Amino acid sequence: MNKTKSDYFVKARQIIAGGVNSPVRAWKAVGGKPVFVSHAKGSKIYDVSGKEYIDYVLSWGPMILGHAHPKVIASICDTAKKGTSFGAPTQAETQMAKLISEAIPSIKLLRMTSSGTEATMTAIRLARGFTGRNLIAKFDGCYHGHADSLLIKAGSGIATLGIPGSPGIPAELARLTLSLPYNDMDALRKAVKRYGSQLAAIIVEPVAGNMGVVPPRNGFLEKLRELSTKYGIVLIFDEVITGFRFTFGGYQNLIGVKPDLTCLGKIIGGGMPVGAVGGKREIMEKLAPTGDVYQAGTLSGNPLAMSAGLTTLNILKTKKISFSALDDKTNQLCRQIENLFTTKGIAVCINRVHSMFTIFFQQGPVYDLNTAQKSDTALFARFFHGMLKRGVWLAPSQYEAGFLSFAHTNRDVDRTIDACSKTLKIL
Ligand SMILES: *Cc1c(COP(=O)(O)O)cnc(C)c1O
Repeated sequence: MNKTKSDYFVKARQIIAGGVNSPVRAWKAVGGKPVFVSHAKGSKIYDVSGKEYIDYVLSWGPMILGHAHPKVIASICDTAKKGTSFGAPTQAETQMAKLISEAIPSIKLLRMTSSGTEATMTAIRLARGFTGRNLIAKFDGCYHGHADSLLIKAGSGIATLGIPGSPGIPAELARLTLSLPYNDMDALRKAVKRYGSQLAAIIVEPVAGNMGVVPPRNGFLEKLRELSTKYGIVLIFDEVITGFRFTFGGYQNLIGVKPDLTCLGKIIGGGMPVGAVGGKREIMEKLAPTGDVYQAGTLSGNPLAMSAGLTTLNILKTKKISFSALDDKTNQLCRQIENLFTTKGIAVCINRVHSMFTIFFQQGPVYDLNTAQKSDTALFARFFHGMLKRGVWLAPSQYEAGFLSFAHTNRDVDRTIDACSKTLKIL
């Protein structure tokens, strides 16, 4: 890397904590200095020296139409000319809520926020306010934003009462969060049997995307629904990644399991800061001003976010969009990558759900955090840098999801396979 390039990070570190405004961007897991981005268009992202990369990060999921989609950009510009924030209601917010509720029928009432973190934080507060209970349960390896109650380390064994996942989170608070192994029905049954009547909520990523991609086992989400109903626990699906990623709706539409509350973010903002929480009317009505559970936001329902989101969702709703074609393309990509690794004699386990995938550097199977952590992260880091050098931008950590957008072409797939083949020669 030339000198001027690395200078950007040196300068950033002098004035921004760690040089980045979100930790994964610092590339600590793969080493080296993060590439600084100049711009992006369609399936490509460009660094400050003008080098082009095929982007499989897509801003960590939101850019499902590709970067700088002309219609999305036009709508942002048109809206901006009329003012960028009012702190008062606009019609666009009602349109957005209506569109989301039509796509995800379990959402009867909705509230917009400015991030996914605010959405999950609000969902937890609502569940506690609604049930009058304090305990919550989550699953090891699931990420729900960085709010205190949800940033709880994966405990081992069943029903480990939370250990704080970060200094600064009081143990007293962490103790209110139970962390259970993902996909483990037995642990779930036992935990709910023991703590069910004290649990306000169970929150889950219906397809886990933050320990790498881990699909739910058959029956896991159904069991969650059944037990939550039985014990009066508010079931929260965190669909911040999965919302509008596989279909015009959530993962819940595909499996027919209805949560009580759903959290959204990423895609519904079309690349602008956004989040949303919605669900059953009687729970959502607990929110102020109808109810007494407080939640607010100066920029919530921001006009620019609403127009980028509405334009994105309206495009996703059109007949021209084929989620199954995107699924097929991702399948092609993963199949070919798998073949290259097999030929080379390196064991990988590729987990894929539609247009979301992770290449785990291990034999597999990967079905929870423990199994995910068996990966060879050093080998992954070498692969990451090899691909980057050859113009393919992957997430800088083994434990992240890769994404395809509707802007990715067959040629992008071919070029990625070529880069992979060349990288494997030197791995
Ligand atoms: C990204 C993410 C969040 C947090 O959203 P932010 O907008 O980054 O606050 C929450 N849940 C899941 C599943 C996510 O992937």
